[in-house]
Amino acid sequence: MKTVTIEMPEVGQCAATECAYNRERMCHARAITVGDGTQPMCDTAYMAGMHTRASMIAGVGACKVAPCRHNNDLECQADLIEVALSGGDPTCMTFEKR
Ligand code: SF4
Repeated sequence: MKTVTIEMPEVGQCAATECAYNRERMCHARAITVGDGTQPMCDTAYMAGMHTRASMIAGVGACKVAPCRHNNDLECQADLIEVALSGGDPTCMTFEKR
């Protein structure tokens, strides 16, 4: 496997405790994708009856929410994001409309 080293915003906390990547309210995916163009929901969330054993802390690999002021060229430029449930969906709470 090749190693890719890249700076990414950290996923600070995630309240989606039913997600397979969540343990102790932290996201342990390598990187998440956020958004569908207008809504900043987590596109990586996977609600399943299991949880990863990984210990890494996730970064934001890509974000499709161009109207967010932290977004530049479909990449997040925030230092850190927080994810909480909004209407039952894991959602980036760091989103700020331009
Ligand atoms: S802060 Fe904005 S750009 Fe960053 S992940 Fe959240 S919605 Fe996307």
